Amino acid sequence: MPRPVVDLSCFPRVALGHWPTPLEACHRLTEEIGGPRILVKRDDINGLGVGGNKLRKLEFLLGAAVAGGADTIITFGGLQSNHGRQTAAACARLGLRCELVLTKQVTHIAGSSAPAAPRSDEAYERSGNVALDLLYGARVHVCERDEEAITTHRQIVAEAAKEDRRVVTLPVGGSNPLGVLGYLTAAAELKEQNEGVDRIVLPIGSAGTAAGLAIGAALLDWPVRIDAASVSESAADASAAVHKLVGEAATMLGVPTPALTRVHVTERALGFGYGLPSPAVWEAIRLFGRTEGITLDPVYTGKAAAALIDAARSGDIAATETVVFLHTGGLPGLFGYAPELIKEAEG
Ligand SMILES: *Cc1c(COP(=O)(O)O)cnc(C)c1O
Repeated sequence: MPRPVVDLSCFPRVALGHWPTPLEACHRLTEEIGGPRILVKRDDINGLGVGGNKLRKLEFLLGAAVAGGADTIITFGGLQSNHGRQTAAACARLGLRCELVLTKQVTHIAGSSAPAAPRSDEAYERSGNVALDLLYGARVHVCERDEEAITTHRQIVAEAAKEDRRVVTLPVGGSNPLGVLGYLTAAAELKEQNEGVDRIVLPIGSAGTAAGLAIGAALLDWPVRIDAASVSESAADASAAVHKLVGEAATMLGVPTPALTRVHVTERALGFGYGLPSPAVWEAIRLFGRTEGITLDPVYTGKAAAALIDAARSGDIAATETVVFLHTGGLPGLFGYAPELIKEAEG
């Protein structure tokens, strides 16, 4: 086990994934991009429920829930939420009831010409993560928009109270100070695997993953740069979310809030907004597939990979650098986009 950065023994934890996840050198991808040396940190193959970054957070979030006597977990997400699917799988493993409140509404960048209506094709609404949620035994509540999700949550809580069940509600993406501990420990794991990494590239949604790596690297005194590619909002908003979570996690741990001088958020691959992949995203998905046999998704990792490729090709990342691409999972989402996937796979 890597040296703990701070003592986390007072935080109960349940075992959900396989650690450490592999750190793979990607020679053909490196050659194709023609610049920095690329390694991929395989948090997409960490074990439970098709895997993904939410498992690290859930080990702490569900650890606290179980320790507190919870028997029912409620959480939120978009229709194709990977967080919802991993929560469902973890609840199956732990024997907890899982209620997923999923919203169809897609975020939409103001002023863009992208379609504002939520997707309504069968693959998006019923395949991918949604089908797995049901396979893992979760109760799925589909809502049109955020207001309906709030009402639905209230109803589920009231129903649980009537049945004397003990409920814990987890935030979107599992991103709260407790969830941040998942990637705080991942920073120590990665440093142990390769201390010489110059930069970590990853997607950022609800910001818990980036916040965990950031506070972990700071506490370890590890001078690694963290480049987070926003998938859903402006770089300024995503960056503010990282700072807020790092501050809250530092307070929870009783350590000073670190200055995050090495954390950079980019919106270079954001495109029209959440769940809307650009042609560069599909190109990145094909490139990782054809050079390494690694599967990316169109919502998160495809965007982060497009940002990485763009930064490397434009010289923003020096050819001498060693870069870790944090693969955060998301495979089922690819099948939620089946109509595009079928076309784009031929490329
Ligand atoms: C949730 C998710 C992310 C984003 O992680 P955050 O901690 O929410 O920023 C990235 N990639 C995948 C595949 C995800 O499911």
